[in-house]
Amino acid sequence: MRLRISLATILVILISLSCLSALQASPDRPVPKRLNREPAVSWVTLQRRYPGVFIMNGSRQTKRVALTFDDAPDPRYTPAILDTLAAYKVRATFFIIGSRAVEYPTLVKRIHKEGHDIGNHSYNHAVFSLLSESAYRKQLGQTDDVLASLVGYHPRFIRPPYGEVLPSQVAWAKLSGYVIVNWDVDSVDWRSLSSSLVLRNIRKTLQPGSIILQHAGGGSSQDLTGTVKALPELIVMLRKSGYELVTLSELLHKTASLQE
Ligand SMILES: [Zn+2]
Repeated sequence: MRLRISLATILVILISLSCLSALQASPDRPVPKRLNREPAVSWVTLQRRYPGVFIMNGSRQTKRVALTFDDAPDPRYTPAILDTLAAYKVRATFFIIGSRAVEYPTLVKRIHKEGHDIGNHSYNHAVFSLLSESAYRKQLGQTDDVLASLVGYHPRFIRPPYGEVLPSQVAWAKLSGYVIVNWDVDSVDWRSLSSSLVLRNIRKTLQPGSIILQHAGGGSSQDLTGTVKALPELIVMLRKSGYELVTLSELLHKTASLQE
């Protein structure tokens, strides 16, 4: 009997641990519940309240778009994405998870060396809106330390996991010179979609100034083959439609480095 209880306990602990690590590693799916510490505020309201600090898109006047890739680095997908970007001479923006940067530093250096912008995507994919102010700053600070040591600058752009961020956290970012960058085009590629569905999702809300969300890494159960396969076709499609593909620093006219 005692043995049976012990086994059951171990099983529960193992399941809990695997759920936790899956959550920490999972890309930007919708967060199921919010913390009621502050009232929920829509992205549109945040954009209006914090112009130039909370951003979902660039100028609508110019046919430029920015490709952004979250949850990097991931040796399964990031190198293939970098190869395609290099082959088509496209520069993009990668939002890096601090703990993954520690694990795969060479890959972060490669992203930087190949001319892409680097942004902060938290240390372990935490849901910012569920964190205390100090825990929020720690997520950013720890990642910032790792990234500065690898690429030589402190990134200005922050992408909150799941796009979830509280008004007070945006206010702190403003004071510190950071820019919170969400998106207006969601490929929904974290759902392990085929390349044709990834492309279809991107076309739905694409317009001049769009910031396109895709992923260059994922949890163990996620398959981003569709993202990798869609990329050459996406680049060709965008260029045929007259779009210029730029980094976030080019789209937003702000340096990727906080100090410049
Ligand atoms: Zn993410």
